[in-house]
Amino acid sequence: AAKNEGRNRFHYFTPAMQAAAELRRRIANDLRTAIAGNQLQLYYQPIVDLASGSIHKAEALLRWRHPEKGFISPEVFVPIAEETRMIVEIGDWVFRQAAKQVAVWQAAYHRDFQISVNKSPVQFLIENRAKSSWIEYLREHQLGEHSIVVEITESLLLDANDRVTKRLLEFRDAGIEVAIDDFGTGYSSLSYLKKFDIDYLKIDKSFVHNITPQSNDMVLCDAIISMAHRLGIKVIAEGVETEAQRDLLAAAGCDYAQGYYFSRPISAPEFEASLLDGASAEDSRPFQNGSEKRP
Ligand code: C2E
Ligand code: MG
Ligand code: MG
Ligand code: MG
Repeated sequence: AAKNEGRNRFHYFTPAMQAAAELRRRIANDLRTAIAGNQLQLYYQPIVDLASGSIHKAEALLRWRHPEKGFISPEVFVPIAEETRMIVEIGDWVFRQAAKQVAVWQAAYHRDFQISVNKSPVQFLIENRAKSSWIEYLREHQLGEHSIVVEITESLLLDANDRVTKRLLEFRDAGIEVAIDDFGTGYSSLSYLKKFDIDYLKIDKSFVHNITPQSNDMVLCDAIISMAHRLGIKVIAEGVETEAQRDLLAAAGCDYAQGYYFSRPISAPEFEASLLDGASAEDSRPFQNGSEKRP
């Protein structure tokens, strides 16, 4: 496009683009010190068993409190961490935090408690250890099978190379479960569902958002759920914000749900106090977890 702009053809970058690039560079710099500076934190969002209302699972979600800029969304900084490859170090930190937390909650509340962590394709593609350090960590700390679920996106499986395939097999052999995140939004080729041993599909929130009894989204959710079940895969609906959405998904046989209707992502102490201390998701509904103020 720049070619066709006549006299301005050398101006590849508009001031706005330059400002954005500069901001990205500064965020990348600051991210380098974020771990050491204790600026990263994991929040946890409950994954609710729709049949019983019980909470034995949570997703760990990264939060960055920048000393000057305040809260920065993972949607902004995770792509930058990927570009700069810092995602490997950050991802290992996320994993270790989640592993420590799951040990505590298993001991105090539910033996079968599970925490899922997001693992970016970049982590799979550039880490080059012979064996996954995550598996070694779980063994060393005597964490049971199924303590950690790894959430990956469809794109990883579509162009899975040998290294990715080997890692996924390692995970399976170690009892680490695998979830496909944002299911239905990628370039869906369903062939990977028979090639890899997937444990969970997470229906993307875009399908849940406008779901009503007669809607196309309802048809898609129904189809995903019955396909998954026939393949022995459990289904988690993301982005459940209303009771009506919860009820429709439960009636369709969806196994688990996650979303603001139950709780926003909250800090570990809040999670313990409001969701684990004898409370079911139903009891905890009036709890307006205000700790997460989104920009
Ligand atoms: P994700 O893994 O799909 O996480 C779900 C996102 O949906 C979270 O956004 C969560 O706060 C949001 N969410 C949950 N319930 C609702 C709801 O009812 N309505 C709506 N509108 N949104 C809801 P968050 O925490 O901002 O994270 C965004 C993305 O950043 C994540 O999407 C994930 O791709 C990435 N991310 C977060 N933490 C990590 C991490 O530790 N490692 C990596 N690699 N990526 C991460
Ligand atoms: Mg996720
Ligand atoms: Mg998702
Ligand atoms: Mg499995």
